[in-house]
Amino acid sequence: MTRLLVIIVVVFALLWLLRRALARQQKGDAPPQAPGEAKGDLVSCAHCGVNLPKAEARSAGGRHYCSEEHWRAGPRDG
Ligand SMILES: [Zn+2]
Repeated sequence: MTRLLVIIVVVFALLWLLRRALARQQKGDAPPQAPGEAKGDLVSCAHCGVNLPKAEARSAGGRHYCSEEHWRAGPRDG
């Protein structure tokens, strides 16, 4: 009976060590997040001013547009 108890304790200790090692590895492998360059970066259309994700916006001359129509029309104030 004592042997069984020792085996259980050893198994739990090994599992605990394994989980700790895995957690440490995951923490080290996580890529650092750049604060300014978030994926959901919003830009506003130079023509109508609507906000949309930078990845979906059309950009020309440092300005962003929500659609091809507004991209062709150009900035409202220019
Ligand atoms: Zn627009």
